[in-house]
Amino acid sequence: MKKQRIPFNKPHMTGKELHYIAQAHFNGCLAGDGPFTKKCHAWLEARTGSAKSLLTHSCTAALEIAALLLDIQPGDEIIMPSYTFVSTANAFVLRGGVPVFVDIRADTLNLDERLIEAAITPRTKAIVPVHYAGVACEMDTIMAVAKRHSLKVVEDAAQGVMACYKGRALGSIGDLGTYSFHETKNVISGEGGALLINDPDLVLRAEIIREKGTDRSQFFRGAVDKYTWQEVGSSFLPGELTAAFLWAQFEEADRITQDRLTSWQRYHAMLAPLEAEGVLRRPIVPHDCQHNAHMYYVVLPPEIDRQRVLDEFKRNDIGAVFHYVPLHSSPAGQQHGRADGELIITNSLAERLIRLPLWMGITEDQQIEIVAVLKKITHTARRM
Ligand SMILES: *Cc1c(COP(=O)(O)O)cnc(C)c1O
Repeated sequence: MKKQRIPFNKPHMTGKELHYIAQAHFNGCLAGDGPFTKKCHAWLEARTGSAKSLLTHSCTAALEIAALLLDIQPGDEIIMPSYTFVSTANAFVLRGGVPVFVDIRADTLNLDERLIEAAITPRTKAIVPVHYAGVACEMDTIMAVAKRHSLKVVEDAAQGVMACYKGRALGSIGDLGTYSFHETKNVISGEGGALLINDPDLVLRAEIIREKGTDRSQFFRGAVDKYTWQEVGSSFLPGELTAAFLWAQFEEADRITQDRLTSWQRYHAMLAPLEAEGVLRRPIVPHDCQHNAHMYYVVLPPEIDRQRVLDEFKRNDIGAVFHYVPLHSSPAGQQHGRADGELIITNSLAERLIRLPLWMGITEDQQIEIVAVLKKITHTARRM
């Protein structure tokens, strides 16, 4: 694909990545769980308050560990939104689990906590809230429902690094939480992720599953005198070069988040008049959510043709894009999962949302140009 003049995303490099990779190379320590991985774990635990964090190849891998940890059996049901990335569902389907798709809230596009209880059956094992755009789900309600029905909660916080709910880091509230460091996220390592284990009872098994089903982590700590095959697992840990890259990003995580928040706020102010005119609606962030400016999106009213808006951005060489095709309407979603009800909000919003370019370092001039295109086209793209 050819590079766009104003792309949707530009991976941000802090400048220290190659330095730390060279250091890992010099240390001669390239496999997983070396010094950089340990620094990353300590940072994640300090920043989130989680009992234990483990770097993984991806958020997808972290979700797969979660499904193994929760011992998902064929036919077990997992409640999740349909408006999410495929990995949220895939990780559980790999264990034979059945995603049960529940509708989202019209304001945050997050799992509607008021609909969860009605979707619970005797087969329900877990709830997987997804913090869309780094804006928290209503976690107090979700945790209370889970407790009442003895369900586990896995937060898909892929987009939620550095974001909070009532002062608590996303990913640190449920029994388990997962982060992504994919290059499209805020803090990156190309491909990468982490599992946060907030229930201390799950820590030892999480280490075992991540290390090919062996107690190798305990062996390295000197807790056992040989390591053996303990349970079903796989290789989910990244090498040290990835962790070295990630460490450079962690060091700058506050600055990256601040910069993105500034750009996010600028869009928000510039688009207020268009919202007042009724040609779009801006993101809604509940007052107890501190988001991380992962994404800036707008929702068009039904009378505006989204494709015409997207075409106009393309004509101007600007990378504005739509987002998820709801999982319940996808071929694999229909084969492996089921929708709980009509998912009216999901269906409607998925067809009307546009994400605008946002990255660390996007300039005010670029944002002014993007908003000008949006203004012009929304004024002419009304369906007759
Ligand atoms: C990005 C993303 C993932 C997958 O992350 P990877 O690190 O690419 O595996 C999963 N869930 C959500 C909600 C995401 O945004």
